[in-house]
Amino acid sequence: MTEGKIIKISGPLVIAEGMREANMFDVVRVGEKKLIGEIIEMHSDRASIQVYEETAGLGRGDAVVSAMEPLSVELGPGLIGNIYDGIQRPLEQMRKIAGPNILKGVDIPAISREEKWEFVATAKIGDEVTGGDVVGYVDETEVIRHKIMVPPGVSGKIEYLLSGKYTVEDKIGEVVSKGGVKTPLTLMQKWPVRRARPYVEKIPPNTPMITGQRIIDTLFPIAMGGTACIPGPFGSGKTVVQHQLAKWSNVDLVVYIGCGERGNEMTDVLREFPEITDPRTGRSLMERTVLIANTSDMPVAAREASIYTGITIAEYFRDMGLSVAVIADSTSRWAEALREMSGRLEEMPGDEGYPAYLTSRLAGFYERAGEVTCIGSDGRTGSVTAIGAVSPPGGDISEPVSQATLRIVKVFWGLDSALAYARHFPAINWLNSYSLYKDRLSGWFKENVSGKWNDLSRELMRILQKESELDEIVKLVGVDALSKDDRLTLEIARSVREDYLQQNAFDIEDSFTAQKKQLALIELIMFFRDKAKEAIDNGADIDKIASLPVRERIGRAKITADHEVKEVFADIKADIETSLKALYVK
Ligand code: ADP
Repeated sequence: MTEGKIIKISGPLVIAEGMREANMFDVVRVGEKKLIGEIIEMHSDRASIQVYEETAGLGRGDAVVSAMEPLSVELGPGLIGNIYDGIQRPLEQMRKIAGPNILKGVDIPAISREEKWEFVATAKIGDEVTGGDVVGYVDETEVIRHKIMVPPGVSGKIEYLLSGKYTVEDKIGEVVSKGGVKTPLTLMQKWPVRRARPYVEKIPPNTPMITGQRIIDTLFPIAMGGTACIPGPFGSGKTVVQHQLAKWSNVDLVVYIGCGERGNEMTDVLREFPEITDPRTGRSLMERTVLIANTSDMPVAAREASIYTGITIAEYFRDMGLSVAVIADSTSRWAEALREMSGRLEEMPGDEGYPAYLTSRLAGFYERAGEVTCIGSDGRTGSVTAIGAVSPPGGDISEPVSQATLRIVKVFWGLDSALAYARHFPAINWLNSYSLYKDRLSGWFKENVSGKWNDLSRELMRILQKESELDEIVKLVGVDALSKDDRLTLEIARSVREDYLQQNAFDIEDSFTAQKKQLALIELIMFFRDKAKEAIDNGADIDKIASLPVRERIGRAKITADHEVKEVFADIKADIETSLKALYVK
C-alpha cells in the first residue's frame, strides 16, 4: 500500500504526490470518502488519477491510497442479468443501499458473496490441468451454463475438487503445481480490465453472425468475431438496430455497454432491456445479457473504463467457448470522456480536441474482438464480436471518432437520416455501407444457405447501384426518356427496397427473417423481374406491369409465417405468371 496527498483537483482529474511506489493503472482510493480512481499517468512520485466519482468536496492534502493492483473485474456466476456501472459496481444493489443517488466510495462486490451456486465438478482428482481447462459448471440461468475454468497462468494436478453449493469465494478445489505451489480454485476469478485475456490463436473469421436483419445478412454481413460500427444521427434508428442485434443475433451472450447518451436515454435502456423477451427461449433477454450502464448522473470518467469492463466480461465468456456480442452505445460518448481527460491532463490536442491516441485506443478496443482458440486443452473456440455505435454530431461522419472507427472496423452500417425521415427502416444506406467479410463468408452462405446465395446478393446490390445511376438521369431528363428495360430496373429496385430491405422491427413476422426465407424472398422478386422482362419482350406496357395487383402480394410476402412460405410463395409465383402473360400483346 502506498499513500500520497492531493496537490491538485480538476474535475475528474486528481494529481497526487508521494505516490512513488504506485504503478500505472493502479486502483486508488481518494480522500476521506475513498472515491474510486485509477492512475492514468505517472511522473516520478506524481500520479495523475482519473476519479470515477464526483470529486466535489475533495481538497488539497487529502489522502490518496493505492491498492497496488490494477482496475479489475470479478468474473464468475452472478454476472449474467446484472446491471453494472463502468467500473462494475452493481447498480441495483447500490440503489438499494443509497437510494437514487449513487453513494460515493461504496464498496459493494460486483458479484454477490452470499448467493450460493450449485457447482457440478466434471474434472477429477489427479487430473493434470492448465489455465483455461474446465473443471466443472454452474447452470447460471436457464440458457447459460457457466463453465468454471482454471485461471490463466495456473497449472498442475487437481488435489481435490468438490461438487456442491458454494458462494463465489468458497474453495471448491485446489491445483498443485509441479513445484508444489497450491492454488485454490473458486467459482470466481479476477482480471485487469485493460489487459486482454489470453487465447491460443485467432481464427480467421469464416462464419457469419446471423442477425435475421435482411439488409445486414444479405448485403453487409458481419462475421462471428468481427467488428462493425453503426454511425448515425439522432433519430436514425441506432437504438432499434442495436436492440434487434441483441435480440436476434445467434450469439450465446450479449454484453451491452451504454456509454451515457444525453439525458435519460440510458435510463431508457435500463428500463427497456429487462423487458425484452428472448425470442429464442421466450424468457427474459437478461438471462443472456450483461448490461454496463453509465447513467447521466455518473461522471464522464467512468465511461472511459466501461468499454474495458465490458469487453473483459465478454472475453471471459468467450473463454468458455461461447459466442459473445459486445454492443457499445455510443463510442462517441466514450471518446468525449477521453477528450475531457486529455484536456485536463493538458496534453497536445489533435483533431477537434481529441487526443492523438484516439485511434490507438479505439483500435485497442476493437482488437479484442475475434474468434479464437481458447486456452485450455480441449481446443474449444469462442468469439467476441464487437459492434460500436457512433453518434457523430449533426450526423457528419467526417468527424474524428467516425473516421478513426472506420479505419479499424470491417463492417460499416451507415444510418441515413434521409431514409429515416422517409420511414425506410432500418435506415442503413445501401450505397455507402460495406462489409469486408463478404468474400470470406461466401463459402459459408454457399454451403449453408444456397449455391445461388452469393450471386443473388451481388445482383441485389447491382440493381440498387443501377437505380442510383438511373435516378440521376431521371432527374435530368425525366422518366419517359428511359428505355423499358431501365424502367423495369427502377421498378425492381423499388421492390428490393420496399419489399425486401425495409424491415419493421415491431412486427412479429417481420422482425426476424431466417436465411431460407431471405433467399425465398429474393428469389420471388427475381422471379417477378424475369417474368416482367419476358412480358416486355412480348410487348407488354411497363406502366401496366408496374401497377399489377400481384406486386402488393410480393410486398406482403415478407410477413408470411415460416411454415407457410413454400405454399404462399408458390401461389404468388403462379399469380405473377398469369398476370404478366395477360399483358402480352400478340
Ligand atoms: P436513435 O437511437 O438513432 O436516436 P431510434 O433507434 O430511437 O433512433 O429510432 C427512432 C425511431 O425510428 C423509433 O422510435 C422507431 O419508431 C423508428 N424505427 C427505427 N428503426 C426501426 C425499425 N427497424 N422498424 C420500425 N421502426 C423503426
